Amino acid sequence: MSTEAHQKVTAGHLKRNAYLYVRQSTMRQVFENTESTDRQYALRQRAIALGWPSGQVIVIDSDLGQSGASAVDREGFQQLVAEVGMGRAGIVLGLEVSRLARNSADWHRLLEICALTSTLILDEDGIYDPAHFNDRLLLGLKGTMSEAELHVLRARLRGGLLNKARRGELRCRLPVGLVYDAAGHVVLDPDKQVQETVHLLFETFARTGSLRATIKYFRQQSLLFPARVAAGAHKDELAWAPLSLGRACSAVHNPWYAGAYAFGRGRWRKQPDGRYRHERLPRDQWHVLIRDAHPAYISWQEYERYEQQLRESAKALGFERNAGPAREGPALLQGHAVCGLCGSRMNVHYYIRKDGMIPNYVCVGRGRLFGDPLCQSIQGVEIDAAVGQLLVDAITPMALDLALAVQQEITARLDEADRLRHRQVERAQYEADAARQRYMRVDPANRLVADSLEADWNFKLRALADAQEDYQRRRAADRLIVDEQERQRILALATDFPAVWRDPNTPQRERKRMLALLIEDVTLIKQREITAAVRFRGGATTTLTLPRPLTAQQMRATHEDVRRHIEGLLDEYTDAQVARILNERGMRTGAGDAFGTVSVKWVRRSAKIKCLKERLVEEGWLTVKQVSAYMGITRSAINKRRVQGKLQARICNDHGQWLYWMPEAKAMFSSGKLKSVSSTTGDAV
Ligand SMILES: [Zn+2]
Repeated sequence: MSTEAHQKVTAGHLKRNAYLYVRQSTMRQVFENTESTDRQYALRQRAIALGWPSGQVIVIDSDLGQSGASAVDREGFQQLVAEVGMGRAGIVLGLEVSRLARNSADWHRLLEICALTSTLILDEDGIYDPAHFNDRLLLGLKGTMSEAELHVLRARLRGGLLNKARRGELRCRLPVGLVYDAAGHVVLDPDKQVQETVHLLFETFARTGSLRATIKYFRQQSLLFPARVAAGAHKDELAWAPLSLGRACSAVHNPWYAGAYAFGRGRWRKQPDGRYRHERLPRDQWHVLIRDAHPAYISWQEYERYEQQLRESAKALGFERNAGPAREGPALLQGHAVCGLCGSRMNVHYYIRKDGMIPNYVCVGRGRLFGDPLCQSIQGVEIDAAVGQLLVDAITPMALDLALAVQQEITARLDEADRLRHRQVERAQYEADAARQRYMRVDPANRLVADSLEADWNFKLRALADAQEDYQRRRAADRLIVDEQERQRILALATDFPAVWRDPNTPQRERKRMLALLIEDVTLIKQREITAAVRFRGGATTTLTLPRPLTAQQMRATHEDVRRHIEGLLDEYTDAQVARILNERGMRTGAGDAFGTVSVKWVRRSAKIKCLKERLVEEGWLTVKQVSAYMGITRSAINKRRVQGKLQARICNDHGQWLYWMPEAKAMFSSGKLKSVSSTTGDAV
């Protein structure tokens, strides 16, 4: 090789730099496999022996601790490719050069660029010129072999792991609340606080049926959730943090809590940018699932039910809205209203009015995706009230049990939360004691250690004080909610379902939960009346009929009494006079305003009531034109006679128009002897 090698190296190569690429794929290899690193650095001597001045041998070792499986994030390798591409490299040195890149594509790209820039490649076996076909073939083979080696290695490791997992013997990272005991068996965490908190998570979820309500409860009660630190100096230590939705979600989804050994619930997928993303697999694709493998927090049946519940909650946001968990809004039938026309679940829409949020039960119908108009929309206030009344009337025998259960639950929850918060204080106390003992045990002469231990002790004492203060504050707050007097009152209430139901302090969510216990669904149809068919759990049904709620226009309409009043007054008075009289008598329009000429006119027109002039003309009063035609005199002459009192006349509207009373002329007009005159306008036809 040596003679041939020297023939391959030319003066042109020597003018350029030699690059030594040093790599170890993991940090552990960097520390433990120092021999390999030494061998890589020894290649430097080979370059010098081939004629490169030592100053021209450049070492690239910034990729120590990076895997070779892809060039992404390997700065050193990219630098090498750049140098070769710009023709600055005469030779590239590396131990088993094919390992420069364990990914065939990266490797072949490097070979290509080396061939174009006539850069040599050197490893322990020899020196290669990628511009020569034979050398390139050999290098290519080496790259393929190296990739294959990696594949075989991985497959073997994975196969071993899977076999072990199939027997349930592979140790996995356990979710918080489960630990391995000395014999390697999975057991519940002996830390009582951890255990109880995990239990509380599942109990709260079972009670509320929703993850969001669960984390909300933890936050309201200032409860923290434990986690085991995954890596770093504090690996496996407990950390307490507020419960997040993500952690609550993965806990409820985690089959380990139900006593099952599960492996391969997800897989890592490579992204186009070289990063990896985790995907959750459906249960039938899990590698291993062994039930009843270890002690559990919840039964397998509970686990399956929670999964079902989470799926349903997800559906509540989807196309065919199904019954979701009870939420805060005032709509009582949320999740229980069914459209009587098309059979879909009805949504709740709210709109804001002066007196609060008004629910509407809306069916978007089956044609939502096609832009069809709404199927039906029904105002919910009256329906909610009627269904509530129905419950109050119908459920008396059940009332005691139900209300008592609700009450007991509230009390139990407060006690339970109090106990758990006290655990936090106990833990802080224990940690402070431990820190004190550590400080006491150290030799006072060892200032460095003593100082840091003292600081630690101080820190723990502060944490203890905080925990105590927090505990007292929360306890006082709870006391505020239920002091003894209150407790008696609630207990008295607990015997009375209607009172609990009607109590304005009962949150609407609780009312909805009570309703969900009693009622399966309510089918609504809006026709001339509203029909609500209530189906109780257990199969009994009742149908309620309600009048249609008033439209906005109807709600603003003038009250019937006021309208009759106006009708009566118009026998004698003009519109403006009527308005004044109504205001004097304290009457208001439908919208609640004072009357004016315009609003009287409006009521008159919409109710088709005749005005004063029309009434007078009907009675036989004559307009000035008719009088003029009858008497054969001018308007001014008529006015003169009126002023002199020779004619009986009266004003008929707000414009000051006069009408005249002439019984003798009246007959002539009605018999048609005189020219007909329009009675409403007074104009001659
Ligand atoms: Zn419908």
